[in-house]
Amino acid sequence: LAAKKSPDHKSLVTVGDVTFGGDFIPVFAGPNMVEDEAMIVQTAREVKARGASFLRGGAFKPLTFPYRSPKYTETREDGVAWLKKAKEETGILVITEVMEERYLDLICETADMLQIGSRNMQNYPLITAAAKTGKPMMIKRHFGCSLRDWLGAAEYALIEGNSNVVLCERGVAAPHTHRGSSRFLLDLQAVPAAQEVTHLPVVVDPSHATFWAPWVAPMSLASVACGADGIMLEVHPDPPNSAVDPLQPIGFEPFGDLMKQMDATAKVI
Ligand code: PEP
Repeated sequence: LAAKKSPDHKSLVTVGDVTFGGDFIPVFAGPNMVEDEAMIVQTAREVKARGASFLRGGAFKPLTFPYRSPKYTETREDGVAWLKKAKEETGILVITEVMEERYLDLICETADMLQIGSRNMQNYPLITAAAKTGKPMMIKRHFGCSLRDWLGAAEYALIEGNSNVVLCERGVAAPHTHRGSSRFLLDLQAVPAAQEVTHLPVVVDPSHATFWAPWVAPMSLASVACGADGIMLEVHPDPPNSAVDPLQPIGFEPFGDLMKQMDATAKVI
């Protein structure tokens, strides 16, 4: 179902008033984690003003360690409520990660698009349940999985009759990552490789791939140049104080500059 039937076979995936797979390149922007109501409402306002199509942010998060400090704690139901508030106040579309089937109904009340995180790319019961809601979905590529595995995951959504699926490349685990703290390497080759074999739109997330804010702008521009159908960016009101992964988000002003730079190559605003 994910396979291209002819060289120009490309699906358009529409979410609200935004379409993936056409000339416009939608941008998702927001923090790693929905930390509190004020920060997510402010972020929604600031990224929307600079042209983002979607607010992103996790309330349910696959945090690498189970140890919790008051700051490093999933905000769960509260986080979803704050996303709802941000959406109501700004009208921006919302994408958020779904980790467990039992929270799908709650998340679907607010989210316009469901994010299947890289770690759950092969959680087929979760993908099946998410697909059955009928909500548009983004399936992030697991950092250790091949193109075939990634398309296999998409097939689990498509077979449920949910055709609104986009893929997201977010970096692969690699022995040489150019910087001690980086764990992943952005696999830009995956964009034309995926587009060669599937009709599904392919988004790129340079923030999670680089894990390093100074590389986010150049790799976003490279993603646009290589034909990405969307860009996901971590944007935080106060990047060094991000509760999660403070090395990777960019601030509002750099985000605005990057949007203009990307828009000079392709329509993102
Ligand atoms: C995220 O986008 O918040 C996230 C955790 O991404 P990934 O699944 O790519 O690590």
